[in-house]
Amino acid sequence: MPQATFRFYAHLNRFLAPHRRQVAFDYPFEGVRSVKDMIEAAGVPHPEVHRIVVNGETVPLTYRVGDGDQVHVYPVFQSPDFSELPDRLPRFVADVHLGRLVAYMRMVGIDVLYPEDYRDQELARISAEEGRVLLTRDVGLLKRGIVTQGHYVRATNPWEQFAEVLLRFNLLNQIDTATARCGACNGMLQQVDKAAVMDRLLPRTRASYDEFWECTDCHKLYWKGPHHQRLEEFLAALRSDL
Ligand SMILES: [Zn+2]
Repeated sequence: MPQATFRFYAHLNRFLAPHRRQVAFDYPFEGVRSVKDMIEAAGVPHPEVHRIVVNGETVPLTYRVGDGDQVHVYPVFQSPDFSELPDRLPRFVADVHLGRLVAYMRMVGIDVLYPEDYRDQELARISAEEGRVLLTRDVGLLKRGIVTQGHYVRATNPWEQFAEVLLRFNLLNQIDTATARCGACNGMLQQVDKAAVMDRLLPRTRASYDEFWECTDCHKLYWKGPHHQRLEEFLAALRSDL
């Protein structure tokens, strides 16, 4: 049976079976196999892969693996290049287990969809058709062929997930809590006069706050409560670490 030698680098190793991590290993195969197929069969979703070098040459995912090939697989080390979109942050779609992360991202104005129909097929379709980065902890979902922009969320704690996404996509200096989106529906917020929303406020809120924002879609009201303070402190700490 023909075989190639594969070596995966840096954090791609976490997707591999333990005996294949951090080493070059023999990888037998039958028939015609694309390098994408073989990488994913080893456990690594293709959106995590940045560069594949076979026998010293960079190859595309569709490359057909040959007997004796030396394959080196490198991860995305830096943020993807969004420079063609100078005025726009990358947009995201998140799978169902990432609700808290989604809420934090929206609080700093990042456009992230969180579909009620969370079947894999639907998430992959939205990502592909709308050019949204797919955030998930489901490796299988990232392996779907139509997904070209995706990120496997490594952290399990929502604040750590938030930090991971901000750093991975280099968003920390582009976001602003002053341009929040609605945590409930992703709609845009606009400032409203306190007088206009007075009858919708609980007495304590009415007494404590003077500035209010309303979602232009679902009309939920927002003010800078304790959660906002915590968010500002979190961002300040993250920026001071850079
Ligand atoms: Zn809303």
